[in-house]
Amino acid sequence: MRKKIVAGNWKMNNTLSQSISLVENIIKLLKEKPIMQSELCVVIAPPFISLEKVGNMINGHKEVFLSAQNCHSEIKGAYTGEVSVPMLKEIGCNYVIIGHSERRAYFNENDETLAKKTNALLKEDLIPIFCCGELLIERQAGNQEKIVKSQLNNALFHLSKEQIKKVVIAYEPVWAIGTGVTATSAQAQEMHAFIRKVIAEKYGTDCAEEITILYGGSCNAKNAQELFANADVDGGLIGGASLIAEDFINIIHANK
Ligand code: PEP
Repeated sequence: MRKKIVAGNWKMNNTLSQSISLVENIIKLLKEKPIMQSELCVVIAPPFISLEKVGNMINGHKEVFLSAQNCHSEIKGAYTGEVSVPMLKEIGCNYVIIGHSERRAYFNENDETLAKKTNALLKEDLIPIFCCGELLIERQAGNQEKIVKSQLNNALFHLSKEQIKKVVIAYEPVWAIGTGVTATSAQAQEMHAFIRKVIAEKYGTDCAEEITILYGGSCNAKNAQELFANADVDGGLIGGASLIAEDFINIIHANK
C-alpha cells in the first residue's frame, strides 16, 4: 500500500515562539486522537529558522516528519542567503518541498533548477515533495494536462525508476492556492489519475502505483474528506489550514 501523507506548509508564517506553540498543540491533539493507520504520516514544514527546534519537538513521534520549504541545489558555496541539502539533513529534515508555485512565481524557480534540486535531495536520501500545477489561464485554455506533463517531464523524468519512486508529487492548481477556491473532487481525481498515467507510460504501472500524489489548494477541514476519498489522491499539502492545530488534525484524520 502506498504511503499517505498530510503535510503542512507554513510558508513565511510563525516566529520561533509561535512555531513552538503550534507544534505543542499539534502533538497534544495527536496524542488525544492518535493516527491508527500505519501508512499515514504527517509532515510539518516550518520556516528554516524553526526547523531544528520543531525537529527536536517531534522527535519520538514516529508518524510525524520534518520538512523544509526549499533548498539550494548545490552542496555548499558562495550562495548568500541559501540553505543546502546537507544542512537540512543534519538538523533532521526528511522531506523538502520544491517547486511550490510561490517559488516558481516570485523566485524564478524553473524545471531545470528543480531537476538539480531533486538530484541533490535524492543523493542525500531526503524526499522531495515536488509541486506541479497549472495557472488559471492555462486551465481556462484546457492546457492543464499539457502543463503538468511538461513540468514532470522536465524536472523529474531524468530519474531512474528506483529514484522516482522516492519522490512525492503534490498537484497544486495555482488558481486554488490560498484563494479559497478548491478544485472539485472530480477535477482533483482527474489530474491525479492523469499524473499517474504519465508516470506509468514512462516507468510502468507498478512504479506509478507506488508514488504518493498529494492534492494542494485551499484544502481544509471541510473539504478534505471528499478530496482524499478519491482513488488517486493520497493526501494533501496544506497551506493556510495547517496553521490552526485543530483544523490540521481534522484534515489528517480525514485521510482514511
Ligand atoms: C500551499 O501553499 O501549498 C497551499 C496548498 O496553500 P493553501 O492550502 O493555503 O491553498
